[in-house]
Amino acid sequence: MDTITNVVTHNKCSGCSACFSSCPKGAITMQMNREGFMEPVIDKQKCINCNLCNKVCPILIDTVSTTQETIPPTYAGWNKDKRIREQSSSGGIFLS
Ligand code: SF4
Ligand code: SF4
Repeated sequence: MDTITNVVTHNKCSGCSACFSSCPKGAITMQMNREGFMEPVIDKQKCINCNLCNKVCPILIDTVSTTQETIPPTYAGWNKDKRIREQSSSGGIFLS
């Protein structure tokens, strides 16, 4: 199984901090990388290899769940009235 280190190494980390929040040992800190993005850094002295950080990482979860069978149907739509569309961030779909 991948580790969050690999997520970071392959530039797939979104910096969501879920791994940081999940760690029971406080072994993860979020630090700014050279490009100005926050990413997790693991203190291997504190890590007990419980794997919780990998289980909550949305990037690693996506690699497991994004199969043909699990991709949900996706729909798009917008209001036909241009004035409503221009006043709505949803494209006028959720007009009240
Ligand atoms: S494996 Fe467990 S202890 Fe180690 S960094 Fe991840 S959540 Fe923390
Ligand atoms: S949970 Fe995954 S995507 Fe989120 S900060 Fe940690 S490594 Fe990056």
